[in-house]
Order: sequence, then C-alpha cells, then structure tokens
Amino acid sequence: MNISALDVIRKKRDGNELSPAEIDSFIRGYTRGEISDAQAAAWLMAVVLRGLTRRETADLTDAMLHSGDVLDLSALSAPKVDKHSTGGVGDKTSFVLAPLAAAGGLIVPMISGRGLGHTGGTLDKYEAIPGVSVNLTLPRFRQVLETCGCAIVGATAEIAPADRKLYALRNVTGTVESPFLICASIMSKKLAEGIDALVLDVKSGSGSFMKHDEDAAHVANLMVETGRRMGKKTVALITDMDQPLGCNVGNALEVEEAISVLRGRGPEDLRQLCLELAGWMFHLGSRADSVEEGKRLGADLIGSGKAFDRFRQMVALQGGEVAVVDDTNLLPKAQYKLDISSPQTGYITSIQCEAIGKASVILGAGRESEGDAVDPAVGLVLHKTVAQPVKAGEPLCTVHYNSQSCLDRARPLIEQSFQIGDAPPEPRPIVRRVIAGS
Ligand code: URA
Repeated sequence: MNISALDVIRKKRDGNELSPAEIDSFIRGYTRGEISDAQAAAWLMAVVLRGLTRRETADLTDAMLHSGDVLDLSALSAPKVDKHSTGGVGDKTSFVLAPLAAAGGLIVPMISGRGLGHTGGTLDKYEAIPGVSVNLTLPRFRQVLETCGCAIVGATAEIAPADRKLYALRNVTGTVESPFLICASIMSKKLAEGIDALVLDVKSGSGSFMKHDEDAAHVANLMVETGRRMGKKTVALITDMDQPLGCNVGNALEVEEAISVLRGRGPEDLRQLCLELAGWMFHLGSRADSVEEGKRLGADLIGSGKAFDRFRQMVALQGGEVAVVDDTNLLPKAQYKLDISSPQTGYITSIQCEAIGKASVILGAGRESEGDAVDPAVGLVLHKTVAQPVKAGEPLCTVHYNSQSCLDRARPLIEQSFQIGDAPPEPRPIVRRVIAGS
C-alpha cells in the first residue's frame, strides 16, 4: 500500500501514533529525495510539538539506522567502543577520547556531527586543522581504523544517510530540541558504526538542549534502552553543562585546548570529564575491571604521550597537517581580540552557557543559516569560571573575532552571560548521575 507523506505529517500534527510502516516509509522517502525538505521540516515540527511514543522512537531509530549500511568491523578483533555527546558548549572531549581509547587497545569508529543549534560540532572543530578530511570513503575509514584504531568522520551517503539529511534540516528549522529526535539521531549513527559498547555524555544545564536533570535523564533512558534493545553495552553519564566545558569555545580554540589535555595539561574540568568517559569506555570494552582502573589507564596513556601520538597519527591519516598538532600556534587565528571586563567585584555565580554558544555562532564559529561557511578561528577564551573571584575591570573573557558587525551582535550576549554575586555558589560535580543498561 502506498503511504502518503502528507497523511503521515497530518497524523502526527494531530497527535496520533504512527505505525512502523508509516515511519519507515517517511524516512526512506526523505532519504531517497522523494519527500521534500519542506515536508520533512513540517513533520519534524509536528514531532517536536506532539512528541513520539517509546515505540515510535524505537521505530524511528531503526528506520534511520537502516537508511544505510551498518559497518561490519568484525575483522578487527579489538572491542569497538564509542562515545557520543548530546551537544554542549566547549565540548571537545572527542579529540581526547578517540585517540586515548585507541591507544588503550579499543577501536573507535566515531561518526560525528556538525554544529547544531548553539552547540559546536566535532566535524567543524576537527576541520580547523588544515587538510583534515572527515569525508572518508568506507574502505578508507576501515583502513584508518585498522592502522591507528580511531577515526572521526561524518555520516555518509552509505552510513546513516537519513541522519545526515535530517540533522542539517533540524539545525535550520528550530527542530533540534526534541528528546525523541535527539535519541534517534544519535543512536542511529552509533548503531550504524557496528560497535560493541557505547558511552553517552548527556549534557544537562543552560548550555545543553536539556536544561534540567530530569530532561537529561529522560533522553539518557531513551538512548540506554535503545542500546540495550540492540544488544550493545550502553551507559549514559549526565554531566554538567551549566558553564562551558574548559575555557575555549570555537573551532580552532577548542582543538588547541584538547591537544593541551592530550599533552597532560589543560583545564581540570575537561581533563576530569575525559578521564571519567575514558574510564567507562575501557570498562565496557573489557580493558579494565572497573571504571576507576579505566581512569588510571587513561591517565597513564596521557602521561606517557601515547594518546597524543595516536592523535597525531589519526590526523595524518585523515590528511591533516601534523605540524599544526605539534605547534598549535599554526592553527587558524582570528585577526582581532577584545577583552570583556567585569563590571563589578565578587564571585562568578553562573555563566549563561547557551548565550555563550549563540555568541560563538554569531561570531562565525557555527551556522546561522543553511550554507553559511564556518570560520575556524573565531570564538572566546574564558578567564573566569563559576565560583572564581573577580575584581571590577578584570577580564572575564577574550573574544577572538574577524568581523566588527559580528562582534557588535555577539558582545551583549557575552556581557549578559556572566552573573556576579557576593559569594561563590556551592560546587557541583561534573558527573551528576550515571544511567547504566543492564
Ligand atoms: N548529537 C547528535 O548527533 N544528534 C543530536 O540530535 C544531538 C546531538
């Protein structure tokens, strides 16, 4: 029976449950180009407003997963384990975790995304290293994994093609913030990688798509349940996104900070989160008997320089200029810098993280409209984080920019982001909760 795209849109618009066949037909039709962007956008908005049942979410994930091939990495004997984040501001853990986990004996076939909403995208950041290609053919992807154990690539026409199209469309139609779409987007990509285990970093707070822990737990449970249903060991860590992760926000700036963690330096919150996530990756991948042992292994691999060497190798195999990894001064740099100073003395009580993310997009680090080019050099470097003391006139952050008009639009957002009070807030842990599948 022919299923009409218009009927599927109307049915969801009116709040009714779609059948597996209707979801499959819609996703298949859109992936093949038989359903237009306009119709897909209308359907996405209906999903955002009406939601999906658990059954519909599972069927959407399956339809998106089977829109392309599933990688067969069975010829590689090591456990295949990946990590994926729901998206945050300053989140650059992938550049530390992929080579770190590979240096510890895991295979990490990481399929990532571009900037989404106010959050940065791993692919945009990775491409800040001149020469890096994230568009590998399947045979080349496999070759890179065989040689160095990790690769960071985008969805292709063969692997997760439905997410490739829907992800870009959601970004320009205000349809990112749906727990059901986030679950299907992430899990379809991750399951297409042919992995054995998955560690999910579910962000919670002002810089996440989930502003509250309950919303983050909802998405985490949906994804853990999907992973378990598909026979994958899956764990979700609900982590703090009430301030940017680390100090640098923006593509090249974030690569630089990730490299500093790989070299045994870098901000403590970023290093700590990387080790937590690595601990879980090693544990689920049977390289460590416990998460604590996995964290120690991760710290050793950073300390010995093996994780950094693996990053260098991955960059070289993906066509990137290794000299830039060795000397991050060679990364693209913005023409101008401006310090934003504190208007008063006190303590930083909070940083409006979504506003920082939006400011970074306005500066050019992300896309405001479809087809915008991303500027690898622009962004912000925070000098103060939550709970730190600050004096009136001291710089809160430095803005790296290439266009005065972009700066003029971004500046008020940045200035309003920092809240200053008389006392520091209670410290909050970076990992708020762990949701594990059984
Ligand atoms: N990351 C993804 O891959 N998809 C989303 O929807 C959100 C974050």
